[in-house]
Amino acid sequence: MAKRKKIKIKYKNFLPIIFIIILVIILTRGQDKKEEPIINFQKDYVGKEISELQKLEGYKIIEERQFSDIYDKNIIIDIKDNNKELNVIVSNGKINDDLYREKNVNELGNVPIMMYHGIIDTEENKYTGGNVDKNGYNRTSKAFREDLEFYYNNGYRMIRLDDYVDGIIDVELGFSPIILTFDDGNQNNFNVLGRNSDGSLQIDPNSAVGILEEFKKKHPDMHVTATFFLMDNLFNQKEYNEDIIKFLINNGYDIGNHTTNHSDFTKISITKTQEVVGKMHQKLGDLLGDKYTKILALPFGSPYKKSHENYPYILKGNYNGFEYETKAALRVGWEPEVSPFNKNFDKDFLKRCRAYDNNGKEFDIEMVFKNLEKNRYVSDGNKDLIVIKNSDKSKLNEKYENIHIYEEVK
Ligand SMILES: [Zn+2]
Repeated sequence: MAKRKKIKIKYKNFLPIIFIIILVIILTRGQDKKEEPIINFQKDYVGKEISELQKLEGYKIIEERQFSDIYDKNIIIDIKDNNKELNVIVSNGKINDDLYREKNVNELGNVPIMMYHGIIDTEENKYTGGNVDKNGYNRTSKAFREDLEFYYNNGYRMIRLDDYVDGIIDVELGFSPIILTFDDGNQNNFNVLGRNSDGSLQIDPNSAVGILEEFKKKHPDMHVTATFFLMDNLFNQKEYNEDIIKFLINNGYDIGNHTTNHSDFTKISITKTQEVVGKMHQKLGDLLGDKYTKILALPFGSPYKKSHENYPYILKGNYNGFEYETKAALRVGWEPEVSPFNKNFDKDFLKRCRAYDNNGKEFDIEMVFKNLEKNRYVSDGNKDLIVIKNSDKSKLNEKYENIHIYEEVK
């Protein structure tokens, strides 16, 4: 009896020690696993979100993006494991021809670049529609507000001129890009009424930017932007000029070159051409740094032909030792421009549409947008993929990669 009792006590005393030993084994086994992980990347991560892989520590992830027939956006298509370095192919989204057909996606369609000058309110309206002058260069604030609503309600969304020139069209699926430009730096483009108590500019709500800012608040998805083409006197408001430009750049607008003094290039020498272009490029470059677009709008839309002897100096030259290069040049045109992916796209001679009224004739707003329905740029919603119709194949500029061609009829 006494012998049995003794054994029982010994066993009870050892229990906690056994527990500790088992615990230590479990813990050290876990640590061993951390040091030598065995991950089958193909098996464990293909088909999962890239964010899952990014949670792993100690690996360098080299990402390559591809469009996929199978995988949604951000899903891993394939992984190659090179000793702590992972080459990962990630899906940029599914290609869906049915959706493209339904939305009539057409990334070789035309893009309207609207040309505005002044926004002016007059006592009596003697001219057609929203025109303020005989030729319709200036518009009433009411007409300009209606223009914006018209573009918006017809599925147009604004993009930067600079992005268009670079072939970056970031517009939602089924929507179309539109570009706004203002020439001459008229005070009514950005009329400053004074300063607010914090020193910020008090913008005239009926000036172009006042109206654009109001529209931006009402319709954030319009992505309001515009490019203003200026001369030496900028916005003609000496004490505010620099703050105006700062405001524009900080609020998604751009500034371009309209020569120092509105020169007609067909009436000046090559030397003078380099002065009026180069001096303005230099001035705006000094003011804006790398935010300056270097795009030029030809005063009077002149010359009408690129073969003019001054043209090469509009594009590239030297003024007093300052070398300049113009990124793109705008004419006074009549109809919308081609897609930047079209092989006929010429960034140095872009047409603009006059934003004016003429009872649906002579390329007024109504006529331009009616004509656009025949071949309007419609986005696939993905700026990295160019989706075109099979019948348009021959129009494509072959320098572009990431093209998807679909049949219009299934
Ligand atoms: Zn002008």
